[in-house]
This record gives sequence, C-alpha cells and structure tokens, in this order.
Amino acid sequence: MPTYIVLIGPPGVGKGTQANRLSERTGLAHISSGDLFRENIKNQTDLGKLAQTYMSKGDLVPDDVTIAMIKDRLARPDCETGAILDGFPRTPAQATALEEMLQTFHGRVNVVPQIIAPRDELISRLSGRWTCRESGHIFNEKTNPPKIASRCDLDGSELYQRDDDKSETVTRRIEVYMEQTTPLIKYYRDHGKLVEINGLQAIDQVTQDLMEALKTRS
Ligand code: AMP
Repeated sequence: MPTYIVLIGPPGVGKGTQANRLSERTGLAHISSGDLFRENIKNQTDLGKLAQTYMSKGDLVPDDVTIAMIKDRLARPDCETGAILDGFPRTPAQATALEEMLQTFHGRVNVVPQIIAPRDELISRLSGRWTCRESGHIFNEKTNPPKIASRCDLDGSELYQRDDDKSETVTRRIEVYMEQTTPLIKYYRDHGKLVEINGLQAIDQVTQDLMEALKTRS
C-alpha cells in the first residue's frame, strides 16, 4: 500500500527543507504545491498566470485548480509508492478531495506531522530565506547559510529571494495560514493523524523527530 505523508506548518517553519530531507531518506516523491505553481509561473502557463494573481498577494489559489493540479501530479509514476505532500492540503475542502484521490490509488494519509514555531521566528526566517533557481533548495542567512554567498551548495546555481517572502506579503501569508489551515489541523487531529513537531530545534533534530513519527505511524 502506498504511503502518503502530509506536512503541515506555517510559511517559514522549514516544511520545504524537511520535505526534501524526508524524500531523500524514504525515497518517496516530494510534492510541493508552491513549487508546482512557481514552475507554472516560470513557464507562463494559463495556470501559472492565474496562480500568480493570488500568490503575489499572499492569498490561496482557489481550491478547484489546486486540487486538479495535485491530482494530475499524484497520478505520475514516481508517486506509485506514495508521496510527501508539502503545502497541500491547506483547507478542509482540499483534505476531503485528497482522501477521494487516494482511494483511487488504494492509499490513505498515514501521518500528518505539524511543524510548529512562533510567529516572530517565522517572520525572521522568511526575511532571510534564499531559494535556488534551479533545484528549489532553500537556504537561510541565519540558520542554514550557503557556503558561497548567493550560490546553491548543491549545483552552484543562483539563489534568489521569492517575491512573496517580502515583508507585507509574509504577514498576509501567516494570517491566511492561521485562518484557513487551523480547521485543517483540527480535522487531522480528530482523525488521530496529527503529530506535533517542534520546529525551533536544529534542522537535524527536526528531521529525526519526523522520521520517528513516520516510523511509528506508517
Ligand atoms: P508555499 O511555497 O507553500 O509557501 O506556497 C506559496 C503560495 O502558493 C501560497 O501563498 C499560495 O498562494 C499558493 N499555494 C501553495 N499551495 C497552495 C494550496 N494548497 N492551496 C492554495 N494555494 C496554495
């Protein structure tokens, strides 16, 4: 039976970094809804143009297009054994749609780690975040600096600051998270799937806690 892990946490908590690490350690595909939207924006697709109008304000892209995009992605062969979902679902409607999708793949959500950190820490991390243009790998000026300034450690590509990591949009994204994702957290807690992880710990410790949660719940 395939394994599906849903990573939940506010912007800046380290979801993307940890999802990459979990993907390397488990061999499961890493599906990031934000990365899929950014890829569409880069390629100027119709979906990308639509998503950009919401993303630039820090708002969520409507459920129907987001759900269709993820459904398409989960049907690809690299997801046959399951996936690590990073940034999806973000609303209860998306969670219900995910359950329906997974039934067709004879799977279910196994575990939902929620990475937690206080708001001030998130704002400080997002303002120091740099992303690799090619691989999407994430660095942070304070907590995880690249070896050479503005260059990705993995492939040497340029690092850039995401438009929506700038201050006004950051505040809005955290607000949207609190509003829209809080009911989702309740949904997974009520279903006995939620495991809280302290996101203030060192990156390696967070990964270790996540691996432990996967082992005990898969
Ligand atoms: P992220 O990279 O996860 O921080 O996402 C960046 C932006 O993409 C968000 O602020 C939303 O505008 C959009 N987005 C990503 N995932 C979703 C989702 N599951 N539902 C709606 N919008 C999303």
